[in-house]
Amino acid sequence: MMFIFWKYLGMLVVNKKEKTFGKGAVKCRKCGRHGGVIRKYNLNYCRQCWREIAKKLGFKKYS
Ligand SMILES: [Zn+2]
Repeated sequence: MMFIFWKYLGMLVVNKKEKTFGKGAVKCRKCGRHGGVIRKYNLNYCRQCWREIAKKLGFKKYS
């Protein structure tokens, strides 16, 4: 059982590595765009999506 668990964890790590290759490989987690993705605070949203979310959250600075 434990062996299967660790194997599964290993697969997760490999998947993560594939997603985060290179410096500019961060995609917006809402629309999947590469350009202008805000990586601050691990947001990983592009500017447009962040604007929408920021509005909902009440950050008027970014609107
Ligand atoms: Zn987006």
